[in-house]
Amino acid sequence: MSDSLLLENGALWAGPDYYWPKGVLEIRNGKVSFAGPAESYRGREGFVGPRLDAGGGLIMPGLVNAHCHAPMVLFRGLADDLPLAVWLNEHMFPAEARWVNEEMTELCGLLAAAEMLLSGTTCVGDAYFCAGGAARAFERAGLRAVVAQGVIDFPAPGAPDPGRGLEVARRFVEEWQERSPLIRPALFAHSVYTCSPEKLKGVAALARETGAPWFTHLSETRDEVAQVRQTYGATPARHLETLGLLSGLQAAAHGVWLDREELELLAARGVSLVHCPESNRKLASGLADVAGWLRAGLAVGLGTDGAASNNDLDMIAEVRSAALGDKLKNLDPASLPASQALDMAWEGSARALGLQGRVGRLLPGFAGDAVVLDLDQPHFTPFFDAASALVYAGRGSDVRHAVVAGRPAVRDRQVLGFDLPEVMARVKSLARQVMGHG
Ligand SMILES: [Zn+2]
Repeated sequence: MSDSLLLENGALWAGPDYYWPKGVLEIRNGKVSFAGPAESYRGREGFVGPRLDAGGGLIMPGLVNAHCHAPMVLFRGLADDLPLAVWLNEHMFPAEARWVNEEMTELCGLLAAAEMLLSGTTCVGDAYFCAGGAARAFERAGLRAVVAQGVIDFPAPGAPDPGRGLEVARRFVEEWQERSPLIRPALFAHSVYTCSPEKLKGVAALARETGAPWFTHLSETRDEVAQVRQTYGATPARHLETLGLLSGLQAAAHGVWLDREELELLAARGVSLVHCPESNRKLASGLADVAGWLRAGLAVGLGTDGAASNNDLDMIAEVRSAALGDKLKNLDPASLPASQALDMAWEGSARALGLQGRVGRLLPGFAGDAVVLDLDQPHFTPFFDAASALVYAGRGSDVRHAVVAGRPAVRDRQVLGFDLPEVMARVKSLARQVMGHG
């Protein structure tokens, strides 16, 4: 397979300020080598490599899902309409203890990768137990990923002795550090309420030592803030600061209940936030004030969270939820305009994953991670403005092709890296066992 590709015969939207109604995207050795108007492209004759006809569609940077738990697609629809604590403690943790292993995370990682690629996501920041399975799945699917091994204070899949959770994480990071150009290993401390101060310090130290980024869930619900305040006498973010751990934390997911002073503290420490609007709404965790986060100077990415609390991995829908939610939160239709909401899924998520300057744009030097949308549809007619069309009328199923590092991973809405119908059949069979009918 080649990692050079010429995309033509479509509009090219290489980033918020770069739009050409007739554009050309040239990718060489996995990276963008030309992006611009078709009439100024001079390399066509000399280009050796496959071509992809955009068919009059829209070529744009692939979306970046900055917070996901991909293998949880197995638990999609298993327990809905519950508050976070009940959902997590009574449904998800027991189901995970029984059903999660490396084979499951690989199988369900493939299903999740297909769902993401087919709906325009070309890069994911994923966190789960038995992370090696998901990493193998993403690599096979051709999906770029920052894959974080989960660390928590109770027996977890792949780490039955919580005292050895860090050893498991170290093995994962060392195994994947130089293994694949698409996969970057990372660490994920579940939260400050499920990880002791010693465990959090251990994760941060391992991150420093190996150069792997680390992530966590932070201030997701009011109950979490109250519980951490009661246990440690400080809010979750201040607790991390007291432990000296905010500096070095790559990004935190949710952040719904961070106060103004905490937002400024996170910005000063260089911590990004990942907004998960659909998960926050479904679990009724709260409406984050994202416009306020941006005013505080924070880098803000966007994520779906796992499919058990969303319940899909469609980032176009997530961008719309972010834009609409912020207008309601601030009772201001000008809050989080379409282009700003969309850029959270490009540049914002890239920064949250430490991939800024590499993904989120289709400019020379950036990774050749592109998607092509089919514009020949009633809901895209007429087409005045790309950001408006995509954010307020678009849907994941508009994606026709997806390319990662110059290699097509989806062509004509078909996943190329593996047999998706077979994977779906195997997940359904596993789901029957989860429901006790297998
Ligand atoms: Zn999460």
